[in-house]
Amino acid sequence: MPKYLLPSFLAACALLASVSVMAQTVTDVPLSDADVKIKTAAQNTAQTAVQNASSGAATKLPTAEEIAAERARLERMRAALAAERAALEQYKADLVRRQQEAAAAAAKAKVEEDIKAAAQKAAAQKAAGPAASIPPPAKEDPVSAKTLSPEELQRQRQLAIERAKAIEKAVATQKAADAKKKAAAAASAPATTSPKDKDVATMKLRKITQNKVRYVHLRDVAVNYGLTFAYTKSANKVSGATIYDKTRKAVFSTAHRDGTVNGVQVYFLYPMILKNNEPYISEVDFLTCLDPLLRYKTPVKLGMKTIMIDAGHGGTDPGAINGAHKEKVYTLQIAKRLQAQLEKLGFRVIMTRTGDTYPTLQERAALCKKYKPDLYLSIHCNSSTNKTPAGIETYRAVPVGGTETKGSKVKIEKQSANEFDANSSRLAYEIHKGMLTATGGTDRGTRHQAIYVIGNATCPAVLVEVGYLSNAAEVKKIASPDYQNKIVSGILAGLAGYGSFLR
Ligand SMILES: [Zn+2]
Repeated sequence: MPKYLLPSFLAACALLASVSVMAQTVTDVPLSDADVKIKTAAQNTAQTAVQNASSGAATKLPTAEEIAAERARLERMRAALAAERAALEQYKADLVRRQQEAAAAAAKAKVEEDIKAAAQKAAAQKAAGPAASIPPPAKEDPVSAKTLSPEELQRQRQLAIERAKAIEKAVATQKAADAKKKAAAAASAPATTSPKDKDVATMKLRKITQNKVRYVHLRDVAVNYGLTFAYTKSANKVSGATIYDKTRKAVFSTAHRDGTVNGVQVYFLYPMILKNNEPYISEVDFLTCLDPLLRYKTPVKLGMKTIMIDAGHGGTDPGAINGAHKEKVYTLQIAKRLQAQLEKLGFRVIMTRTGDTYPTLQERAALCKKYKPDLYLSIHCNSSTNKTPAGIETYRAVPVGGTETKGSKVKIEKQSANEFDANSSRLAYEIHKGMLTATGGTDRGTRHQAIYVIGNATCPAVLVEVGYLSNAAEVKKIASPDYQNKIVSGILAGLAGYGSFLR
């Protein structure tokens, strides 16, 4: 059939089809005169068109209308094809999305399962008795541990099952023994009273405002904590003050922001001031830094079961570099050592990275928001263009109303971590003290800095700078498993100290 006849042939077929449908649908109803006329006319037109088409009688060229109709038909076909392609693309996208959703759901289920398992393990360990504050070092080095053979894996699984059974048995025995002991203790000895903390809200403290900063009277602070107050003098002039008793001691300076608490260097937000020859410290320092370090127990009930460890830098971001030494390598090694020890103690540990990858700072903060750990620990190594500095620094978020220890003098806007300033202060102090004791390193103080992952944490959070990569002697230490294990022991001791503040 000549191509240009196709449209009229199709039109005829369509017409016939519609007529036959019309006839079918009205079988039971008698046709009106008008209906009959329409039907007959339609049939005639259709038959003529079919005859013309099949006999090839029409040899004339297509008219302009026919060409236009053909063009329109082709356009419609093109549009239909485009629509179909779009539908296919949509289907493909839906398929990918569904696969991603399924994968995410599976991952979530796995995490929930892990949480349950960790909680059960922690409960079992808790019931079995207090965990040692500092665990013995791991037998296998988690950093250099090799992949296990299937036989060894099977053997370890079997051992784990046996251990779990043994723990269950020990828990039952211990519970019975504890109950007996408790009953006996209650019956005989009077309860020992641990020192009581005063509620800050009930303390009577004289206050003043200077340069838009509120200050509290330091002698009043001392009285409320049962501490003795004494001025320190330099060249016969007051240069600071000390408040102390047998177990606690805080030292303030009128010249510098850094003081000490129990021998550990602590940067406050403001130096001490003298007004009418009376000593004052800033109210924000008192509330977010000093009070949490002087009191025995936290006034805020917070947990310490899930710990997020953030190995600084990674992937495309090496961090500080000194020759072949890269910060990203050591932060991950220390993070993994810490993870192994914490998991041994029954903590649930979540890592922001486990390999040489670079989650952005925003992604790291998002992980904290998502998994809601009880604590956030970020591990870094320090660096300086000057090769002399060495030692350990520990950072927490800048409290509202304060400025960074170093750098910007701009007051920082409130961030999520500010909800936990008091606990972060104690956490920073304890971990800092722990690392100094374990390593014998130089004390460079607990500090405040606007660090993204710390400021945007949704729990108490600290960042540790475990040493200076730029210092020739210290970089060798940082690279050694021995020093890394000491840092880990120090952090664990700090966590134990922080834990006793929580209970
Ligand atoms: Zn770093």
